[in-house]
Amino acid sequence: MTQTSITRSWVASANGHADFPLQNLPLGIFSLNGSAPRSGVAIGEHIFDLQAALDAGLFDGAARTAVEATCCGHLNAFFDLGRSARVALRERLLELFAEGCTLQSKIELQSAKLLPLAADCQMHLPAKVNDYTDFYVGIEHAQNVGKLFRPDNPLLPNYKYVPIGYHGRASTIRPSGTDVRRPKGQTLPAGQTEPTFGPCSRLDYELELGIWIGQGNEMGDSIAIVDAAEHIAGLCLLNDWSARDIQAWEYQPLGPFLSKSFITTISPWVVTAEALEPFRKAQPARPEGDPQPLPYLLDKRDQAAGALDIELEVLLTTAAMREQDLPAHRLALSNSLHMYWTVAQLVAHHSVNGCQLQAGDLFGSGTLSGPEAGQFGSLLEMTEGGKKVVELPSGEVRKFLEDGDEIILRARCRREGFASIGFGECRGTVVAAR
Ligand code: CA
Repeated sequence: MTQTSITRSWVASANGHADFPLQNLPLGIFSLNGSAPRSGVAIGEHIFDLQAALDAGLFDGAARTAVEATCCGHLNAFFDLGRSARVALRERLLELFAEGCTLQSKIELQSAKLLPLAADCQMHLPAKVNDYTDFYVGIEHAQNVGKLFRPDNPLLPNYKYVPIGYHGRASTIRPSGTDVRRPKGQTLPAGQTEPTFGPCSRLDYELELGIWIGQGNEMGDSIAIVDAAEHIAGLCLLNDWSARDIQAWEYQPLGPFLSKSFITTISPWVVTAEALEPFRKAQPARPEGDPQPLPYLLDKRDQAAGALDIELEVLLTTAAMREQDLPAHRLALSNSLHMYWTVAQLVAHHSVNGCQLQAGDLFGSGTLSGPEAGQFGSLLEMTEGGKKVVELPSGEVRKFLEDGDEIILRARCRREGFASIGFGECRGTVVAAR
């Protein structure tokens, strides 16, 4: 049976599932009732316990080696095995869960292997993140924000040559559901020359994709653009929470520091490069007059199929909305096609100076806004830096986030003739400064 011929699963909830149909099979790390974290695969409304399945003898050969590498509480060793291990595991999972699989009763009977997704399972970070880098490749966001400061010249001259990025803080990356403590810091009140210290009053989110690095490179070596896609294990959603008032005061000349490092939230499931394959697209053509990427960033195959068509959504609920049972309010609907650089270009650029990338490193894409209202991936853009308000169905208004506000990121890939897949959610609720 080939991958493409398998479309339905005996796991009933997987068929037509908005996020986790048979075609997705994302990996994550979970624990049950406080037990030690272990690896699992999301399918429909269930988590398939890989360790239990390994113990039951459901894997052999390359798939067994792949699963063994997941069984240490994080996926770094599995990421380090590269694409062939991911493919071997995926092929075996497709066999096990395909409609008509003769092992169905074995998996069902040993019910510990197929756990309800929602009940009692706690999701953890999928990998130990040694290094986290946040890029700035959402060109519409860069232009929207640039316009607030430089209306006539929103993009700096390096933007179309260099995939702009900075080193973020790995120690405060947390899985979906972790509370977001309002940070404190220095800010410069309007019209003043001396800063004050206190809780951030302009707390914001940023809608981003997270990119998981698979195999890395030795220090001193670089990853060529033609090989770069092979080094990406998968993607997740990423919320780069941002304290705009702290950022505005601290960011020159070296970029964001404490305004970003208090927490970064990610969705816990790793949607693999293989699951995303049907949703690859040509990198959108650069506007007339833009420079071509320098040769170390340019590869025909990457330009032809290195972009991703992923619909991205931001929703907000406030404490009052939840009390009134109002549904989450959509703040933005955008798409990953607004990336000016492909994920492969980010890998090639990051390593071109000999910088070592390691399995489990995480990249943020940068905020992925669209060009129009309703497509902005941050409140900074929606409110034009706090000049306008966002009106909510509860009658409340927002310029920036209040305590009790919850931000939910979602992502979905759709293509005619293919099953849609989703990323699960990336949630975080703002709690008062301490
Ligand atoms: Ca960011």
